[in-house]
Amino acid sequence: MLLLDGKKLAQTIQAEIARDVQALHAATGVRPGLAAVLVGDNSASHLYVKNKRKACEQAEIASWLHALPGETTQFQLLDLVARLNADPQVHGILVQLPLPRQIEESAIIQAVSPDKDVDGFGVQSLGLLATGQPRFYPCTPLGVQQLLIRNGIPIAGRHVVVVGRSNIVGKPLALMLMGKGKEADATVTVCHSRTADVGYHTRQADIVVMAIGQARYLKGDMVKPGAVVVDVGTNRTPEGKWVGDVDFEAVSQVASAISPVPGGVGPMTITMLLYNTLQSARRVSG
Ligand code: NDP
Repeated sequence: MLLLDGKKLAQTIQAEIARDVQALHAATGVRPGLAAVLVGDNSASHLYVKNKRKACEQAEIASWLHALPGETTQFQLLDLVARLNADPQVHGILVQLPLPRQIEESAIIQAVSPDKDVDGFGVQSLGLLATGQPRFYPCTPLGVQQLLIRNGIPIAGRHVVVVGRSNIVGKPLALMLMGKGKEADATVTVCHSRTADVGYHTRQADIVVMAIGQARYLKGDMVKPGAVVVDVGTNRTPEGKWVGDVDFEAVSQVASAISPVPGGVGPMTITMLLYNTLQSARRVSG
């Protein structure tokens, strides 16, 4: 059984990104820059942003933190986003979600310039992806795809079952893997909470991707022997342990490859944010 070690792969790719950042800077004088926006004092959000900025620092990507109080208004946040959109040093804008109740998340996501939407959440980014002319791939789906490709797992022609249909994970991942190209070209089935029998579908899959947020949902008898299983889920148990959507012990007896939680998709997601920021800087520097 192959362990899809996202932590190790993320380190390798981050070293490649650091090298490319240096080369871009040497050739053009442009240093990629990411502006992170944090509103309120959600401790998980603070930790995510801290980890993302640390990864930027290691890759020599400039990063700025805009930490705003929890009572910030939508107008104030839109004003900040407009300033970041206009700042030529900023190539990527990350607005950490969730936002406080008084702020409409979709309004903020849409306010981020499509040229700096390194999270790939905006309507334009998703529309470009859906029509086969992607600009920024959302980070988690891109991390999943890279985890497969860089572990030598073929995608083209295979049956992938994605469980979960959110706008940030399941839906864009399905669009990516069913797109044209040798790193895609899969036959994709998408399951969700209204799917009659999720196990029926996952048992047909060559590759299963779980992204539902239900601890240890996927059991060994829901997987075809030899299938590849990628676990996007992150769930906190009552004992304070992080587990995925996959029953790792049971499924690893059946699968040919499986990603762990933690140490699988999570580190890849952060890495793809750096990658998108580098790509954005490359676009503006010609
Ligand atoms: P959402 O809550 O937005 O979406 C969950 C999806 O799962 C929905 O489409 C929902 O269906 C479906 N679903 C829920 N329960 C079931 C079920 N019992 N059977 C089948 N489908 C079900 O979550 P996200 O997509 O944002 O995140 C999913 C998981 O991935 C979470 O654990 C999250 O923490 C994790 N995550 C991890 C990241 C990482 O970097 N490792 C990044 C982003 C997310 P319906 O649409 O019908 O409601």
